[in-house]
Amino acid sequence: MHLEEVAGGVFWVEASHTNFVLLVDGTDVTMVDSGYPKDRDLVDASVAKIGRSLADVQAMVLTHGHVDHKGSAERLRLDHGVAVYCHSGEVRLARGEIRQQISTWELRRAWRPKIFRFAVNAIRHGGLRPEHVTDVSTFGDGEPIDVPGNPIAVFTPGHTEGHCGLHLAEKGVLITADALITVDLWDPERRGPQMIRRQFNYNHDQAIESLDRFTDLEADVIVPGHGEPWRGHPREAVAQARAVG
Ligand SMILES: [Zn+2]
Repeated sequence: MHLEEVAGGVFWVEASHTNFVLLVDGTDVTMVDSGYPKDRDLVDASVAKIGRSLADVQAMVLTHGHVDHKGSAERLRLDHGVAVYCHSGEVRLARGEIRQQISTWELRRAWRPKIFRFAVNAIRHGGLRPEHVTDVSTFGDGEPIDVPGNPIAVFTPGHTEGHCGLHLAEKGVLITADALITVDLWDPERRGPQMIRRQFNYNHDQAIESLDRFTDLEADVIVPGHGEPWRGHPREAVAQARAVG
């Protein structure tokens, strides 16, 4: 497990190809996303590794409702009373009422080795069996969310219709989730700030526009949904992402 404290009390954890974040506030913990369904052991182990227990996890904030981000949400909600949050525009996806995700059929058509590897990994980690969240609380754009650490929602639709980044202003951290990532999902050699491939976006043009939301936020660490944290100002990360397309 890759686990790194990128700022005081903010832990980046890399699950299988997907990141999540543990945000510590006193003895309480907020989890931001949780990998694929089959990342469950890693999710639980990460909490233990920072010296907390699942009983300390008060909330999970979903940046969006894809299978590789909400993997443990329903389980932790049911088994440990963790309150699950997402943007009001993301509820239907979190609950599994709509899809907005590249299908494995589309992936299968793209029979190239790198894409195949991505698909196999997704399937192995439960990508075909999403665990939907049946009870979710909502927040709006620009709101400090009422969970430990009080992250501020940065509404950045495009990847999904209710996708949000999270700004931890006091920590100097910006969680960009899948609006801006630092590794290509099909070609791990392609690193650095970039947009997720067009095929993965519900509305790619909207996703390009949403990058503007990040540029004026103050942060010196960016934690993406996929890839390693990146150090620098969001404005620079956005410029690089736009440049590589
Ligand atoms: Zn993702």
